[in-house]
Amino acid sequence: MFDPSSAIQDFLVFGEFGDVNPSISDSSTFTFLDPKTMKESFEKDVEGCFLYSRHWNPTNKYLAQALAALEGSEAAQVTASGMAAISSTLMQLCDMNDEILSSRTIYGGTYALMKNFLPRFGIRTRFVNITDLAAVEAAITPQTKVIYCEAVSNPLLEVADLPALAETANRHGLKLVVDNTFSPMTISPIQLGAHVVIHSLTKYINGTSDCIAGCICSTAEFIDALSNVNSGATMLLGPVLDAARAASILKNLHSLHIRMKQHSANAAYVTERLQAEGVIVHYPGLPNHPGHATMKRIMNPAFGFGGMFTIDAGSEEKADALMQMMQMEKVGYLAVSLGYFKTLFSAPGTSTSSEIPAEEQAAMGLTKGLIRFSIGLDNDIARTYERIMKCVRAVGVLPEPQRA
Ligand code: PLP
Repeated sequence: MFDPSSAIQDFLVFGEFGDVNPSISDSSTFTFLDPKTMKESFEKDVEGCFLYSRHWNPTNKYLAQALAALEGSEAAQVTASGMAAISSTLMQLCDMNDEILSSRTIYGGTYALMKNFLPRFGIRTRFVNITDLAAVEAAITPQTKVIYCEAVSNPLLEVADLPALAETANRHGLKLVVDNTFSPMTISPIQLGAHVVIHSLTKYINGTSDCIAGCICSTAEFIDALSNVNSGATMLLGPVLDAARAASILKNLHSLHIRMKQHSANAAYVTERLQAEGVIVHYPGLPNHPGHATMKRIMNPAFGFGGMFTIDAGSEEKADALMQMMQMEKVGYLAVSLGYFKTLFSAPGTSTSSEIPAEEQAAMGLTKGLIRFSIGLDNDIARTYERIMKCVRAVGVLPEPQRA
């Protein structure tokens, strides 16, 4: 069975001087001893040959190779953001008049890209409930090129049945593109049949909320196509990750397995207790979550159900009051993003998913009182839970006790 943490452990790099952390390639351009080699490198990708850092940089290549190991893909490419990974992938795969079939519960920026930006280039998107396989099948048209989803969705934590979606994609000759930002290590989409996996490295993989970065994992053929000097989306749109950042992300990647286990254990602890108290909680690790059975079937169980959960505070006002108090009580930070070592919380309806119109938010069950948590690496999670409960009681999120 594929084990992403062993794949990362086996990823050894011997730097220029035997450095365990290879020296950072601090160059935008590279010399050639022979002009013939330079000409060849423009004509075809010469293995091990670096030309210009928008094309490839040795430090970025190390990180890309480690990420390919993480996902068990043939190759990978790193980018300056998760959005750069998503936009480059979609623009590489789709031509004018092509269609994307996307899950309707996705990160707000991805939704806006598909809904507002890509139509300018003649690329349209149909949004469906990705957990309804019949609806997915019914929405495929002769123009469809891509099925797009998040393995565990932002912010509703829907779990995509990746083997079934891969089967559908293959039957129709489509590419299944999966954003795995919420579930690194926990879910290995390539192993389940996905053709392209994307991460916002900004989140769990880096884990220190100090930079923006992304990656694309896929076949060597697709990654080569992305960096083709004549027609590659990453080469021509130019979303290059800085090498110094690539080096620091690579170091953080090696502790991802420990962090994911701790995030998952902390989320399980808090969500089980909040639910027992009567708080409305959504967490794929809870048996009553609609995606629980699917996740159990497709996950790498050693890493748990992840560190993301949501609670419904009942109204926008209560959500605001709760978040403000939780920050005062040192539960964590009222901030967007996720995968940080401290707890982060925000209300997605009015922040990271605000790009999605109100009526569509309502249709997908995204209420204004929803608070998304990215639980931190807290050692004393019982103390954190008590702090959350103190705020929940103070704000009146719990229903009044029933009078006999
Ligand atoms: N995908 C998901 C699931 C996200 O949550 C985000 C950002 O929040 C992105 C992609 C975009 O990543 P970035 O902010 O690194 O561009």
